[in-house]
Amino acid sequence: MRKDGLVIVYTGGGKGKTTAALGIALRAAGYHQKICMIQFIKGSWHYGELDSFKRLEPDFEIIAAGKGFVGIIDDNSPREEHKKVAQEAIKICKEKIQSGKYDIIILDEVNYAINLGLIDVEAVLDFIKSKPIELNLILTGNHAKREIIQVADLVTEMKEVKHPFQLGIKAKKGIDF
Ligand code: ATP
Ligand code: MG
Repeated sequence: MRKDGLVIVYTGGGKGKTTAALGIALRAAGYHQKICMIQFIKGSWHYGELDSFKRLEPDFEIIAAGKGFVGIIDDNSPREEHKKVAQEAIKICKEKIQSGKYDIIILDEVNYAINLGLIDVEAVLDFIKSKPIELNLILTGNHAKREIIQVADLVTEMKEVKHPFQLGIKAKKGIDF
């Protein structure tokens, strides 16, 4: 059996990508494995996991790298501003990945960051190539790039069959955030 860490991708249009990654984190924390989740994009929302996982400190750490993107995604901030924030997020990822301190690192919504042009796919391929051999890396977000799918070990595509959103039912506390 191979001992290397896995590169896991959760993509697709159905619900469950981030929660699948959190599910693995919850499972791994049971063995006191060290987990770091770096969130892109999501900075301004409050998600339940930000608090529940405080109870799992120091095994689980969440960093809102997306904070820097808030306010610049929807408006016409200069390209320079986008680049600066993206560079900062990449720096955080690099540091965490290279630190060798973690069993699992989750780059949540990283696929969105790539598709929005905030982060270069090459930067993410670099993370994968240069990661410590035992590190498990989980990437989430719809429309995962082909290059990433190619190098991943496990890829699951969430397929929407039904979603209450289609009936106008709003996001629910505890289920969606
Ligand atoms: P979750 O965080 O619930 O696992 P996700 O990571 O698969 O969802 P994202 O693309 O990150 O989904 O979307 C974030 C938000 O959109 C979440 O609140 C999620 O519940 C909701 N969502 C996910 N899929 C759908 C869908 N098909 N239609 C409407 N809303 C969705
Ligand atoms: Mg998500």
